[in-house]
Amino acid sequence: MRGRSAIVTGSTSGIGLGIATALAAEGVNIMLNGFGDAGEIKKLRQDLADTHGVRTAYSPADMSKPAEIHKLVRTAETEFGAVDILVNNAGIQFVANIEDFPDDQWDAVIAINLSAAFHTIKAALPGMKRRRFGRIINIASAHGLVASVGKVAYVAAKHGLIGITKTVALEAANDGVTANAICPGWVLTPLVEKQIAARAKAEGTSLERASSELLGEKQPLLQFTTPAKLGALAVFLCSEMASTTTGASFSMDGGWVAQ
Ligand code: NAD
Repeated sequence: MRGRSAIVTGSTSGIGLGIATALAAEGVNIMLNGFGDAGEIKKLRQDLADTHGVRTAYSPADMSKPAEIHKLVRTAETEFGAVDILVNNAGIQFVANIEDFPDDQWDAVIAINLSAAFHTIKAALPGMKRRRFGRIINIASAHGLVASVGKVAYVAAKHGLIGITKTVALEAANDGVTANAICPGWVLTPLVEKQIAARAKAEGTSLERASSELLGEKQPLLQFTTPAKLGALAVFLCSEMASTTTGASFSMDGGWVAQ
């Protein structure tokens, strides 16, 4: 894998950072993307480059804006000469029942969690096909396979992302390009920490209690998955041994969707 190049959207934090780190450890050049403090992002880039001997770049592209997404892909192609691996990971959450779900939150969740993947793939796929190598990984969720109350936009986006994954897999089946989805259960990242805090506040309980209740409600296995474990799965999906693995969804969810 050494010398390949990847874009990982939303990689300044959480799962995206775990996947970017795992790919860098395999020698993959990394285009980081996402929001955050400029100094911290600079340090992240430097640490990845120094520790793993890879090239790194950063784009602040907003994944809700198609023009910025196209620029991100073009910049990565210019910087590294190719985009061999595309990980669509950037995502947001908003929780409310349908009657109370704000229209602008629906639009934002669909734009960042679903439409962004269409735009990145549309921009990166021609180069992958030309070079006859590509690995597309879409970070869906257990919510790409089953629903929960209060998450209408997220559930719709993640189900849609699995649909995009299957379509790309069919269209690029004989071009050396694979597309797969990863469906994590609970991972303790800022996205979930916010939900735990909201739950603790609503129920007047401690963060610790809210956290174990959140886990127990959905997952038979009462442990958070880590970004590093998801990174290991992504590395497999990018490997030569996964060259015939396409159009599939891989759960790493503590048994969530087995029920
Ligand atoms: P996180 O909040 O830690 O990270 C989200 C990343 O996306 C950050 O880097 C953030 O800056 C970036 N981002 C947000 N909006 C953006 C935008 N408009 N443009 C560019 N970047 C943007 O969240 P996470 O938990 O690591 O989530 C990563 C992905 O994994 C998401 O797609 C999420 O739906 C999915 N997921 C998370 C869990 C979980 O339990 N944490 C479970 C299943 C799936």
